[in-house]
Amino acid sequence: MSSLADKVKTFIRPEIKALSAYHVPEPGDTIKLDAMENPYQWPDDLINEWLDVIRDVELNRYPDPGARVLKQHLRESMDVPDDAEILLGNGSDELIQMIMMAMAGNGRSVLSVEPGFVMYKMIATFMDMPYVAMPLKEDFSIDEAEFLASIKTHQPAVIFLAYPNNPTSNLFDEQTIRNIIDAAPGVVVVDEAYHAFAEKSFMPMLKEYDNLLVMRTVSKMGLAGLRLGLLAGKAEWLNEFDKVRLPYNINILTQASAEFAIKNRHVLDKQTQQICIDREILFEELSKIKNITPYASHANFILVRVEDGQADKIFNSLKEQGVLIKNLNPVGGLLKECLRITVGTAEENEKFLAAFKAAL
Ligand code: PMP
Repeated sequence: MSSLADKVKTFIRPEIKALSAYHVPEPGDTIKLDAMENPYQWPDDLINEWLDVIRDVELNRYPDPGARVLKQHLRESMDVPDDAEILLGNGSDELIQMIMMAMAGNGRSVLSVEPGFVMYKMIATFMDMPYVAMPLKEDFSIDEAEFLASIKTHQPAVIFLAYPNNPTSNLFDEQTIRNIIDAAPGVVVVDEAYHAFAEKSFMPMLKEYDNLLVMRTVSKMGLAGLRLGLLAGKAEWLNEFDKVRLPYNINILTQASAEFAIKNRHVLDKQTQQICIDREILFEELSKIKNITPYASHANFILVRVEDGQADKIFNSLKEQGVLIKNLNPVGGLLKECLRITVGTAEENEKFLAAFKAAL
């Protein structure tokens, strides 16, 4: 009789056994500046109106499988061009998974950049797709010649570019992305998770390219708990991805709540504007601190490089002082000695700054 460990070893795919599960630290009652969440609640009167909407939701029924009303609201609020189709996911993470599920096989590969968003690589591993990540330059821009050469070599089925990039918070050069779209044999997904803080977008460019897909999420706009992502692009692609979508992937509470939130978008927009103002204040304050390098941000977080050998120490000291940020030092490479701080409320940012200075 083989042991349980032997059975697991025999039957679980080796590439899955080799992974660590996506780790989300338990925040306790810390100031949570690790996950790019919007720190604000809704005003009480809006919560009461929302509860009225939720009260009428029929939980005994399956949700609208096509989430038609929600799609229409999203189309208008996100300026999706009329001739583009929309596919919704349980977070944009699920959309990344659907794209790869529909494309995996026969050695078809995924191309992205390093440092980049970790889920591209993780999901490529789940799907057994070869994953190629081209190193960014020191200033976090794309090395265009190298990237184009890599497209030629690997002929990727899908290219993922986060715009702005996570965790570096910069916008890649628009012309470089256009050149990548022109050279790509398959699709290019421009992942605009941080669009609310960035102003620039490839959404209007959907009219120009038949291999461009634009991905958005409501998570960073203040609705991370709903789990809702959107992919826009040509119906020819999206109809295929739709076939791997599990039925009713957008639950009934998410559909009702997101519709309500979009109707009251001015509240979220105001919060986003405040986050952008506070981001600039936080950046200025960090810039005044000696021997660290904060990087200018187009997102709702700031990447900071600290002195050699200091990142782990500072991260742990902040944690002891009740402030949770993201330590990227363990990733290594260009992220050596880097810490990522989500912009919180003005008060949280001040508390972070005080704790950060004490930790140096
Ligand atoms: N893309 C990028 C670049 C991200 O940083 C994140 C979340 N950290 C996502 C996608 C996933 O977002 P969602 O909450 O919609 O799954």
